[in-house]
Amino acid sequence: METYNFKDKVYLEKCFNAEDAFNFIDKILDNYELPKNKNARIVLKPNLNNDINALAGNSTDLRVITSVIRALQKRGYYDITIADGPNCGIDHVGIDVFKRLRIDKIAEVFNVKYINLNKCEYEIVDLETGKAKIGKPVLDNELLINLPKVKTHIEVGMTICMKNFVGCYQALDKRNIHDSLVKNIVRMNEIKKPDLNIVDGLIAMEGNGPAAGTPKKLNLILIGKNSFTVDLLCTKLFGFDLDYVPYLKLALEKGHFDKEDLNYLENVTEITKLKRAKENIFAKIFLENFFIRLRYNKLVDPLFKKGPLPMFFTLLGVRQDRYDYNDDTIFRLYLREGSKSKKCEEFCPIGLKTPEDKKCINCLYCFMTDRNIKHNGNLGFLKGQMRRYGKYLRKL
Ligand code: SF4
Repeated sequence: METYNFKDKVYLEKCFNAEDAFNFIDKILDNYELPKNKNARIVLKPNLNNDINALAGNSTDLRVITSVIRALQKRGYYDITIADGPNCGIDHVGIDVFKRLRIDKIAEVFNVKYINLNKCEYEIVDLETGKAKIGKPVLDNELLINLPKVKTHIEVGMTICMKNFVGCYQALDKRNIHDSLVKNIVRMNEIKKPDLNIVDGLIAMEGNGPAAGTPKKLNLILIGKNSFTVDLLCTKLFGFDLDYVPYLKLALEKGHFDKEDLNYLENVTEITKLKRAKENIFAKIFLENFFIRLRYNKLVDPLFKKGPLPMFFTLLGVRQDRYDYNDDTIFRLYLREGSKSKKCEEFCPIGLKTPEDKKCINCLYCFMTDRNIKHNGNLGFLKGQMRRYGKYLRKL
């Protein structure tokens, strides 16, 4: 384990499966003051911005989510809610991200709740771009644990702890946030700070993140209280600098970290260089809010849901999301006759040894990484994800 001695310490550990993740998180939780009241409302805020499987580098890995739940339940906490607001596009077209990422199954297995922050009670707060609705569970709790993913980001360099809070805001307010994204990222983290960040760096996303990059296996988890410090550390660990992450530059100007932190950062050793997102002039133009608002105009909206227009924007690299309206209907996974698989040992979030186990929740982590695992039922939207990411997933 590595400990980074900023004013607020950050811990990093290599984790190779769900048990490693649990052991690390369980151990480090002892360093933090948790609520005295065992009935405390606890909210976990993962990154569930899209329906793309965590092993493709997009959403928070279920191995991290289940490990946090187990470590909390071991300490007697049972009022736990998984909360996030998927991006406004996917919500708008009616795709259930919680179901597709099997958050609903995790909630069932561990007897916790889950909530879509786009569609719950809210409070109004002041962002740089005016009033915005923040999901009430984010403010109304006794312990808020941020569970972000390590990803590159085409607009702001990288998205880890601080940027993950965009998901706390409701539907189209997320778009308004992009009117002044850099300032709003800092502002959001001034309005509400998590009590803890547990960062999923098991499979990161590099290249054209946050949704069109490629997965990179890092097998890392980081834990720290201060989102500003954890993000600052990650710039060095993953080969970026402050100039590449404008919201951290602004955070420095506003005094959220200081010279002492920067001096300490000098001595931190880089772990890897994540590939940066490619500059895309079309993305710059069409992600301007003028066009985004036009896109959500009632008359124009149907043209963007299906057909040649979304395809055209995908080809230009402007549209990262690809929506497939067909849910999967997979009801059984099994090993090809005479074959064995070690993928469950590494990837299963609930510690199963084989997908033939009755407790399997069909998260498909073993299936997507091993050709010897077959399925009954229709792949639905996953067919597209396998086409897009299969070659990377099979090498994990
Ligand atoms: S056995 Fe495979 S599909 Fe089933 S829960 Fe584990 S990793 Fe997911």
